[in-house]
Amino acid sequence: MRLMDAQKPFIIAGPCSVESREQLNAVVSALAQMPQVSMVRCGVWKPRTRPGGFEGLGEKALRWISDLTQKLRAEGLRPLPFACEVATPQHVELVMRYGLSAVWIGARTTANPFMVQELTEAIRGTGLTVLVKNAPSPDVRLWMGAIERCRQVGLSEVIAVHRGFDVLKNGGYRNHPLWEVPIELRRVMPDISIVTDPSHIAGRRELLQEVAQWAMDLGFDGLMLEVHPHPDEALTDGRQQITPEGLKELLGKLVLRQTDGGMADKELRLMRGQIDRIDDQLLRLLASRLEVSGEIARVKAQSNLAVFQPKRWESLLQQRLSTAEELHLEPEFVKGIFEKIHAESVRVQQERLSRAEKDVEKSE
Ligand code: PEP
Ligand code: MN
Repeated sequence: MRLMDAQKPFIIAGPCSVESREQLNAVVSALAQMPQVSMVRCGVWKPRTRPGGFEGLGEKALRWISDLTQKLRAEGLRPLPFACEVATPQHVELVMRYGLSAVWIGARTTANPFMVQELTEAIRGTGLTVLVKNAPSPDVRLWMGAIERCRQVGLSEVIAVHRGFDVLKNGGYRNHPLWEVPIELRRVMPDISIVTDPSHIAGRRELLQEVAQWAMDLGFDGLMLEVHPHPDEALTDGRQQITPEGLKELLGKLVLRQTDGGMADKELRLMRGQIDRIDDQLLRLLASRLEVSGEIARVKAQSNLAVFQPKRWESLLQQRLSTAEELHLEPEFVKGIFEKIHAESVRVQQERLSRAEKDVEKSE
């Protein structure tokens, strides 16, 4: 059975890093008593962006994990499956030696297909479940590529982890969620489970609930959350970690959604029909608008005017934004749409212009 089939939402919780035997035992004993938690996460190799800080306890931490699993069994508690990050084939070998059930490929590793290839070959045939975090850059193909490499070597359970993206305007997040990227992953790889990691997206605990709820609202399959017995004393990622109590509260407040319609199906079908008709109208309007742009190109060509007229663009945008305000539409959203429309209009006009010039050359 795949680990992911255990329950939905699939909750993975645990410390950013294993720091001591006491810390590990305290957090895992608490998690083992929470029926919603299906897997424990804990980092044991933690190279930081710059050297010199806490870098993880490596094999020693793996030994504690293996001892703890036996202790939980002996106490009749659930022996939760453990996952840790691996970045080299040697890490995979050690994880196997200490009996962990799953590994994750970290964001920085996913960005490097050489390393992903080496790792997947080392994982081949081990039976480990593999979680693939998205690369820091918002390129769904890198994420897909790493998942495909896992599949190519026949790994039986591969799960995508959405941990947000490193972008210039981070919108107050540590890593912007850019929900459109996991939504695109779902479209192109519908059979891959997606687990959202609110901790690395949010970067601070106040935002976790909201991000976790968004993931549920979008119908994603689970959450990965960092949990520490004393978050403010954590050696890594302290601002975003919560206590086991905090996790209980967060999960308790989470509103779970159905992924298929049930009773709402009929009503939804009607509304989706409306949306389809509106989208059809939008597309037809866009086509008419671009036709007029083409005509404008002809007039500009006759008067030898530049295609791009900055003053006109500025006043058009301001007018659209003021209409948007009246209609209670988000200004950034409307601005983004008109930037796209304007860019396409400029492209169409340039194309017409160069075509018209070629025709003149030919006739000369
Ligand atoms: C982590 O999960 O602790 C971690 C380092 O994550 P990421 O690779 O997403 O930065
Ligand atoms: Mn972390």
